[in-house]
Amino acid sequence: MNPKPSIRHLLGKKTFSHDELVILLSADKGEQNLIFQKASEVKQNNVGNKVYLRGLVEYSNICSKNCFYCGVRSGNKNVRRYKLSESEVLEAAQFVLDQHFASMVIQAGELSSPQNTCRIGELVRKIKQLSQGKIGITLSLGEQSREIYRYWHDCGAHRYLLRIETSNPDLFQKMHPQDTFHTFEKRLQALEDLRNEGFQVGTGVMIGLPFQTYDDLAFDLEFFKNLDIDMVGMGPYIEHKDTPLYQYKDLLLSPLERLDLSLKMVALLRIIMPDINIAATTAMETIDPNAKIRALKVGANVIMPNLTPLKYKEDYLLYEGKPNIDEEAQQTLNYLIQSISAIHCEIGWDNWGDSLHFFHRHPENKEIEPHS
Ligand code: SAM
Ligand code: SF4
Repeated sequence: MNPKPSIRHLLGKKTFSHDELVILLSADKGEQNLIFQKASEVKQNNVGNKVYLRGLVEYSNICSKNCFYCGVRSGNKNVRRYKLSESEVLEAAQFVLDQHFASMVIQAGELSSPQNTCRIGELVRKIKQLSQGKIGITLSLGEQSREIYRYWHDCGAHRYLLRIETSNPDLFQKMHPQDTFHTFEKRLQALEDLRNEGFQVGTGVMIGLPFQTYDDLAFDLEFFKNLDIDMVGMGPYIEHKDTPLYQYKDLLLSPLERLDLSLKMVALLRIIMPDINIAATTAMETIDPNAKIRALKVGANVIMPNLTPLKYKEDYLLYEGKPNIDEEAQQTLNYLIQSISAIHCEIGWDNWGDSLHFFHRHPENKEIEPHS
């Protein structure tokens, strides 16, 4: 039998087999620094040291779905439900404009009513009007019909985040109710529809889910590559006591192990997909207040400062221990800007910071980025 190849040897290779990804993902604390160093070089050579900021607005926690991991699932009756008013969203847009981020993400629970579809479309149009087209808009509003995606794209949104959550269909099924509303096939179809409607598409997974293996995570990395995805946002699964998945909390890796694994996922993804956008996610920060900065060092290049008005922040609890829910946006932002400059990264002010990967695939679209 061949001895297990060393991490250093594997990192010298141009591509990794599935089994090699599994070995890399299981690297111990000492070895993982080699992966981080390599990812940092790949990042510098391909997307440079720019960090793009996207103002995140958690527009509503009203959701028709019942995902077993999520604190705002429709079955959780302990949640106070809210929806931002138009003026609250436009105030956040004005903040984005004043602070020169140039990008905004509107995220919410999944609703497909005609009223919700129109309201979102109108918000997108008004943000575009208010900013004279300067704000680039990402939506993260779950699975919708192709027609709805087309309508929102026509209104002016150009990026969409929809996580696959896990690329293992059996694990996906374990994480969701067994009904026609929560199927792996529909999630895949939605990702394909988004791409066909012209969106830059982002997906992602949760890391450290109960029953998840290194093998699953290696398949996740291969899934992103095979889908030729433009952006990825992924982070640790964090338990929430009012969810069905909480009963498996004793099966989980420790929070620090989940964070290390998430950072290894980010680093390996940067190595295998050098020119995509990768977000440093809030769930990481729940485990370590400095985690977003650590993620930037090992491959991430996007951060989404939370601009949800303070009075709603504590009602958008997907998991427990969410950070900064008592802080005003400006306070979090000042700290973030200092930390980014301390690691010699530069903020891409006034720049949409679209995925270079998207433009490498569609050079004809470069002109849609008015602020590069
Ligand atoms: N409803 C939309 C959707 O599901 O795509 C957008 C909002 S949803 C809250 C955004 C993401 O939160 C999900 O894709 C999921 O990965 C993440 N999330 C939910 N519960 C989580 C948990 N307990 N730990 C970590 N991430 C979680
Ligand atoms: Fe709703 Fe998204 Fe939470 Fe699922 S993950 S319950 S779709 S908000």
